[in-house]
Amino acid sequence: MRAQPKASHFIDGDYVEDTAGAVFESVYPATGEVIARLHAATPAIVERAVASAKRAQEEWAKTSPTARGRILRRAADIMRERNRELSALETLDTGKPIQETIVADPTSGADALEFFGGVAGAALNGEHIPLGADWAYTKRVPLGVCVGIGAWNYPQQIACWKGAPALVSGNAMVFKPSENTPLGALRIAEILTEAGLPKGLFNVIQGDRSTGPLLVNHPDVAKVSLTGSVPTGRKVAEAAAGHLKHVTMELGGKSPLIVFDDADIDSAIGGAMLGNFYSTGQVCSNGTRVFVQKGIKREFLDRLKARTEAIVIGDPEDEATQMGPVINRAQQEKILSYIEKGKAEGATLVAGGSIPNSVPAEGCYVQPTVFADVTDDMTIAREEIFGPVMCVLDFDHEAEVVARANATEFGLSGGVFTSDMARAHRVVDSLEAGTLWINTYNLCPVEIPFGGAKQSGFGRENSLAAIEHYSELKTVYVSMGKVEAPY
Ligand code: NAD
Repeated sequence: MRAQPKASHFIDGDYVEDTAGAVFESVYPATGEVIARLHAATPAIVERAVASAKRAQEEWAKTSPTARGRILRRAADIMRERNRELSALETLDTGKPIQETIVADPTSGADALEFFGGVAGAALNGEHIPLGADWAYTKRVPLGVCVGIGAWNYPQQIACWKGAPALVSGNAMVFKPSENTPLGALRIAEILTEAGLPKGLFNVIQGDRSTGPLLVNHPDVAKVSLTGSVPTGRKVAEAAAGHLKHVTMELGGKSPLIVFDDADIDSAIGGAMLGNFYSTGQVCSNGTRVFVQKGIKREFLDRLKARTEAIVIGDPEDEATQMGPVINRAQQEKILSYIEKGKAEGATLVAGGSIPNSVPAEGCYVQPTVFADVTDDMTIAREEIFGPVMCVLDFDHEAEVVARANATEFGLSGGVFTSDMARAHRVVDSLEAGTLWINTYNLCPVEIPFGGAKQSGFGRENSLAAIEHYSELKTVYVSMGKVEAPY
């Protein structure tokens, strides 16, 4: 097993095993090869991880933000030095092509460690509030033990996007990666420890949907940050509400990408392809409803079809490969069944639509697929598919497309391609979503806040905004005189 870690969990600065936990296999989705065999966390492991985090956090909270930041920046440097090795692991963990992981996965995780490490010394400052003779001040204080629960599409990035702001704010974290991608987070924990992070501050435990609740319901856990689907988000938010815990919810979407007829068509097609096919379509913010103004529909679809059919699908470890498999068989079957629904409900198949030729039968591949003539009521236009399936819908007018784009329970992201800047700003202003792009799509540098509206979640990751979600304000009123009481 070529990616077997030393043990399943990382607690209190070291690898830990508990063979009483249920065995589960980590499978490379390109070939079906078992690359690691692990144990899910037992309640004893959960206890140990939370207790270790609690102990470590009490001391960590007393350190200066600059000292915390220095450790995170050192970890970022180590991640960059080991980018190839970490990317190779991410490729095995997820099936994403090395061509992608080498530019997008450990590097974006390192960006988060570097950014939060860098802003640490200023981002936690409070305020001085003058009140005449009296005054008040605020302090930003840590929450305590925070739990991070990850999805399987960006395991290393998600661990860092949650870990970096949590740690810099003075918290400890217990992170549970997705059961589909258990490996990357263990390496992040190892690297943080090597960079000097005191033991217990970033623990990783394995498990699935039955393990998550043990963490969410734990009385010593102050906050839960979940990246996952809307149904999981509802369950986790409900459990957290029982204890009034802080929550950040990064959930799913069915985001609109609107292309007006004055857009640079090649850029719009590039944006639509990146926003539907990157990571084999397994990106929460994907612009899966591509609204194209009728005047350019033919040209848009012709060029899109040619570019889609030229995508190189295959072995993720080959640097020439542009698209790998999806995460597992169940997801592959789910995506193929959505494609069948698209055909049955009357959408026009423009490209793809099945399993590619010349890939291993054990691999979980799906062709990059484009449907045209999709209407708002079709299942493929309403539900999150989380695979490489692009729906192209037609529209006539701005007001019409904005109303249709907003007619969804989701509100994660959206985009507009047009050369009319007044229109671009007007449209993004009207779209109900957390993150929007003008003349590009899906760029999420750590400097900008990222998160959803409506059913796509709440709270924000990245940017200074994330600090607010991993800390709370303490206000202190200072009287400079005597107390005047009427009794
Ligand atoms: P999922 O909801 O099945 O699982 C997410 C995580 O939650 C896993 O670690 C899982 O073990 C855990 N979990 C499941 N039930 C739980 C429970 N009751 N209590 C605690 N933990 C529980 O999601 P997935 O299939 O791993 O990922 C795909 C979904 O994630 C898609 O909907 C996608 O849009 C979303 N996603 C969102 C973002 C974002 O930032 N908004 C990013 C990536 C993925």
